[in-house]
Amino acid sequence: MYYGWVGSYIRAAERESARSAQEAEGAARRAESVAIRIQDQLERQALLIRSLLEMCARKGLFTSEEFRALVNEVDLSDGRLDGRFKPQGGPRNCPECGKVNGKHAVACMYCSTPLPDRELM
Ligand SMILES: [Zn+2]
Repeated sequence: MYYGWVGSYIRAAERESARSAQEAEGAARRAESVAIRIQDQLERQALLIRSLLEMCARKGLFTSEEFRALVNEVDLSDGRLDGRFKPQGGPRNCPECGKVNGKHAVACMYCSTPLPDRELM
């Protein structure tokens, strides 16, 4: 007896499996791209902060104790003393598709377009 339907079922499952694998690869590439962009931003910010502190030290503008006190003050200005400065922001519209994304989103959850960075200053 010939069971041709079994072979077509298996081929359909294989096609679906290959499509899922391609989608997963795409998602991984997008996530890697976002991670690289964040890393780049952090390194640029570190450079700016380090340069600013060096300039201030050279000009004798403040002591390290005064600086640490100010860091704590600024840290608290967003409502939490947690070693971070996270200005409050609401949901944002995607620049590509226009759909609304959550306030913590770094890329559009509908079309994966990276969302513009929030202004920190
Ligand atoms: Zn979008």
